Amino acid sequence: MSRPTEILPITEDDAFLERALQRASIPTLMMSLVHLTGDASLLDGPIRPGAAVMGEVDGGLTEDDKAAVRAQALDALRAYRDRGGTLPPPPSRDTIHRMMSFMVGQDVPDAYVPMMMEELALDGIDRRDVTWDGIAAQTRAGFHVVVIGAGMSGILTAIKLEQAGVPYVVLEKNDGAGGTWYENSYPGCRVDVANHFYCYSFAPNPGWTEFFSRRDEIRDYFERCTRDFGIRDRIRFRTEVVSATWDDARGRWSIRTRDAGGREDTLEASALVSAVGQLNRPKIPDIAGLDSFTGPKFHSARWRHDVDLTGKRVAVIGTGASGFQLVPEVAKVAARLFVFQRSPQWMSPNPRYHAKVSPEKTWLLQHVPFYGRWYRFLLFWPGSDGLMPSLVVDPKWPHQDRSVNELNEMTRIYFTDYMKEQVGDDHELLAKVVPTYPPFVKRMLQDNGTWLTTLQRDNVELVTDRIAEITPRGVRTADGVEREVDAIVFATGFHANRFLWPMEITGRGGVTLRERWGDAPQAYLGITVPDFPNLFCLYGPGTNLAHAGSIIFHSECQVRYVMGCLAALLRGGHAAMDVKRAVHDAYYERFDARHRQLVFSHTGTTSWYKNASGKVTTTSPWLLVDYWSWTREPDLADYELR
Ligand code: NAP
Repeated sequence: MSRPTEILPITEDDAFLERALQRASIPTLMMSLVHLTGDASLLDGPIRPGAAVMGEVDGGLTEDDKAAVRAQALDALRAYRDRGGTLPPPPSRDTIHRMMSFMVGQDVPDAYVPMMMEELALDGIDRRDVTWDGIAAQTRAGFHVVVIGAGMSGILTAIKLEQAGVPYVVLEKNDGAGGTWYENSYPGCRVDVANHFYCYSFAPNPGWTEFFSRRDEIRDYFERCTRDFGIRDRIRFRTEVVSATWDDARGRWSIRTRDAGGREDTLEASALVSAVGQLNRPKIPDIAGLDSFTGPKFHSARWRHDVDLTGKRVAVIGTGASGFQLVPEVAKVAARLFVFQRSPQWMSPNPRYHAKVSPEKTWLLQHVPFYGRWYRFLLFWPGSDGLMPSLVVDPKWPHQDRSVNELNEMTRIYFTDYMKEQVGDDHELLAKVVPTYPPFVKRMLQDNGTWLTTLQRDNVELVTDRIAEITPRGVRTADGVEREVDAIVFATGFHANRFLWPMEITGRGGVTLRERWGDAPQAYLGITVPDFPNLFCLYGPGTNLAHAGSIIFHSECQVRYVMGCLAALLRGGHAAMDVKRAVHDAYYERFDARHRQLVFSHTGTTSWYKNASGKVTTTSPWLLVDYWSWTREPDLADYELR
């Protein structure tokens, strides 16, 4: 882990530099060249990366062009090393904008420049840092924040509260930090967002060993953040929040906790931050006979490491993101594996999904000035808002059942061809694995060929008949066939629509979140809820990202907004802020209207984005750039301040 612009001195010889440059992403190297030489003329030169696409980091350049850039970079790095690592004056804002557009081979609109400048922090200034000028230390010390959850968002909040000098405690039900990366330890678990982007903007990790690292490495990253940012002592592990009640007269939350030994305690807080995530409470479907099974059965997020599946007959139910990752691993050891698929999944080809980061690449990230920053941009941009147009329903498009517009149809054909290539003339398998609903209705999965290779193994059977019941010995499908197994794994997802469940959160006038929300949770900007003053949700309702970005980017937006709210409370001497009902309702009118135009509302299949009545509740319909600008600071006119 390092500060964003922290760069190690170059001590290696020319031969090493030459070798390392063979591994460089060339568009990224070109950006570093501008910083190294102070000369931006290459932006007008003949070697130009093509439009950036996800999973490709060389801009489609020819081998000759790449060699020419490497030769220039070798000269520039040598000179930089030999002059003791000094850099010319930094590029101007206009030049940086030109660099952005040049690097990704398309015009980066003006509206995105401030967002990306902030994300990249090329000048070494973190504009999301908390600067609470004018708030006396004594005022800060009198304010107390309780954060629920020490996962990615909770750690982030703690880091910012620490910076702000506000007393806080983080309550964590597990005995380690990392949230979802703590809880999900199933074999094959790894991030499926590019890792050099899936990390805090202020704590890049040039040391990722894979482009999409495994769970242990990611959990370790978050653990390390708790230590490096000095917040670990403020986390109370093995402590679960049972309930929280707002006392309107005193302007305080009263939070009841229970530790692992069953001891209860009550804490008071001026503000309560929920950082519990959306995918936190495992869901096991209510299948007939569930309890009759005599062997071990467990959920993917509660992996039983004491159950050795080697040589066993195993059933995996569910083929979402978790099933998709664990099935190939279980198949390697099980004698027989039955994969129960209710609906097939779209998958995006990604050759680097399981690839290792070479030591040379790591070296480049650590030593070449601004390489890591621009590499982040190269990963961010193609997975950013550019995808949105392909997700908007074109009412004139004639094939609404299989795609929502022409671009979406092109994606569908591309993904279908990718699957066809892999299954050859096995038409029966192809019919089972190609979805009939449009791409992106469910969460897109990443694949490097592992899924279909696994399904074609001799010891694996893909079962698409409906599950009728679980029997003492196995799983019986509607066609009457019983498949006997030794263990059942439920990769059946989470109670995504039951936010903050099973906690009992009571706001003004005794209203509870459970009553207020049912299975249609709503929060203004996904963060604040009318009648629940000083309660702030992170990764709250309607903030899951399905079209773009990394959820860490979104959390950084939300935490900045929350810190702005807390600063406003303290600066104004207010006890409470409560989002105005009219503001909240108007936001939801826009939210629902936008979702009606998007692929996520498609009725062709189910997804955890929707609740039981088919309404999208968990997922954001917004462009990243809009959400970023709305959450830069709170508009106090949206709130009743008391
Ligand atoms: P999920 O996407 O909700 O998938 C649940 C699976 O269980 C689906 O295949 C579903 O079928 C099936 N299912 C549910 N009830 C069933 C029943 N009664 N009978 C048969 N099948 C049933 O859950 P998940 O795979 O745990 O993933 C949830 C989310 O977690 C992901 O979308 C992602 O956001 C996150 N995640 C991320 C990563 C990563 O980044 N590496 C990895 C894992 C999870 P249907 O499709 O027919 O509903």
